[in-house]
Amino acid sequence: MTGTARPITLLGTPVLHTPCRPVERFDDDLALLVEDMFASMYAAKGVGLAANQIGVDLRVFVYDCPDADDVYRKGVIVNPALELPAAQDRNVDRGDEGCLSVPGPRAAVGRPDLATCHGFDVAGEPVTVHGTGVLARCLQHETDHLNGMLYIDRLPAEVREAVLAEFREGQSVPAQP
Ligand SMILES: [Zn+2]
Repeated sequence: MTGTARPITLLGTPVLHTPCRPVERFDDDLALLVEDMFASMYAAKGVGLAANQIGVDLRVFVYDCPDADDVYRKGVIVNPALELPAAQDRNVDRGDEGCLSVPGPRAAVGRPDLATCHGFDVAGEPVTVHGTGVLARCLQHETDHLNGMLYIDRLPAEVREAVLAEFREGQSVPAQP
């Protein structure tokens, strides 16, 4: 791993609340960004990371995340397009979700338990990822990030307030000596 871990942007940072721009050049800069994204994700002990979580407004995410068989799958998707089962074919998983950009709290978020993501690798070759289990949730969570949306934006108002309160409490705890 040659990338450099960068600081994770937190809730309230404008780049997290704005749709990211499509990648137009599959060049060395993109490859370096992706290496830094992997390094940042591993340093933060996450299973997925979107570019705007390290302050870059480009449509790219990385993941290293277990599927329904508990097999870890790793990759990068540039300019992702999400495909979900039709409404009548969906099984909704109500598992807990958290986010590196909202450290501390977790909350149940209903999401389809299958998701497919189409996009490109760092070289510009088309890729398609079929996600089950946590990976299905991850593909949806990361695509949301690139659309300027956080999982808390999908919560009922009361739950959202409770999550925000827990987050703020965690942020205001003075540093220990
Ligand atoms: Zn997140």
